[in-house]
Amino acid sequence: MSDAKHSFEHPAAAPTGHPGGHPNGTGGHPGGCPHGQTSGKDGVPPLRLIAWEITRSCNLACKHCRAEAHTEPYPGELSTDEAKALIDTFPETGSPIIIFTGGEPMMRKDWPELVRYAKGKDLRCVMAPNGTLITPETAREMKDAGIERVSISIDGPDATSHDAFRGVEGAFAASMRGIEYLKQAGLEFQINTTVTKGNLGMFRDIFHLCEKIGAAAWHIFLLVPTGRGAELGEEIISAEEYEAVLNWFYDFRKTTDMQLKATCAPHYHRILRQRAKEDGIPVTFENFGLDAVSRGCLGGVGFCFISHTGQVQPCGYLELDCGNIRTTPFPEIWAKSKHFLEFRNQDCFEGKCGVCEYHKVCAGCRARAYTMNGSHLAEEPLCSHTPRRATGKS
Ligand code: SF4
Ligand code: SF4
Repeated sequence: MSDAKHSFEHPAAAPTGHPGGHPNGTGGHPGGCPHGQTSGKDGVPPLRLIAWEITRSCNLACKHCRAEAHTEPYPGELSTDEAKALIDTFPETGSPIIIFTGGEPMMRKDWPELVRYAKGKDLRCVMAPNGTLITPETAREMKDAGIERVSISIDGPDATSHDAFRGVEGAFAASMRGIEYLKQAGLEFQINTTVTKGNLGMFRDIFHLCEKIGAAAWHIFLLVPTGRGAELGEEIISAEEYEAVLNWFYDFRKTTDMQLKATCAPHYHRILRQRAKEDGIPVTFENFGLDAVSRGCLGGVGFCFISHTGQVQPCGYLELDCGNIRTTPFPEIWAKSKHFLEFRNQDCFEGKCGVCEYHKVCAGCRARAYTMNGSHLAEEPLCSHTPRRATGKS
């Protein structure tokens, strides 16, 4: 089943429920690692996707999010002129898709102006709102400005389960209403679902809901316990459950034409290859779409996050300061940040991920490694694979 049509495939961006960042910054990894990778122009990999938190303000206070409801702009938010100057630099890094995210991106009044400006630079634009502010008018405005796809988070198949996960009564109904308006405006939408112990048993029902409402894609996300999401620690599934759900996903993918993607589940890329080998299927773009050609964690190798104040990070879950666009040109940060160079070189990784034969296609979740194992270069805590080199096999 190909997912080649994906408008945007990555997350750590942040539809509601996938915080585009979290408040407990890290400051980085002492010492770093001197090596860098050597692919792409001048050894710098092209940037494929940018999650841009155009504002941190939000009208909701979901219990797993980093922020309280905060409807005023946060201090230090980029001005319209600063935001446009930043957009001017994006084409120097490649031809990235821009995910306009938040917070709630629609809380920023100039979002249509910024989308239009980015479109004017031939950049593909998608949006990750929480859905509650979508009206017939704003849906048309998105379409007119040039938004190509909208992602909406749904974490349960009905109001009871979804609202309980969000901790916001009425969130399900509001999202469904928003989706209806998107459809009326002719805008494509995808559903994002965070996998937790609480909704694991409801996956089939959530999938059927996606089918019923006409979603273009369904992306499942593995919970990263950061920010207020850390309070959901008991909701994190174990490495064994993780393995089982990703194997289920591999099989389930074959039963539908809907685009399915496991996101921030880097070792799905390992499981896909193990299963494809067993099935005798070559891992090609034709057979597996973008999963065949991209790394599980794209943070720092094809993807990055830019905060509302211009701080560049590997992703929204990993508040690792890679530089600020107010003091260093964005393309320079992408090319030279110490942390990005680390993420591009397996020698910098520790534990299993440092010796794993699947590193190039997986690399483990750096945010989970940081939160659960104390270093962004530590091994992925929720992977049950034992690399061949760790067992002495070549
Ligand atoms: S570190 Fe990588 S896999 Fe983990 S949340 Fe960020 S982008 Fe996703
Ligand atoms: S050990 Fe690390 S690189 Fe290897 S499959 Fe697991 S998470 Fe991926």
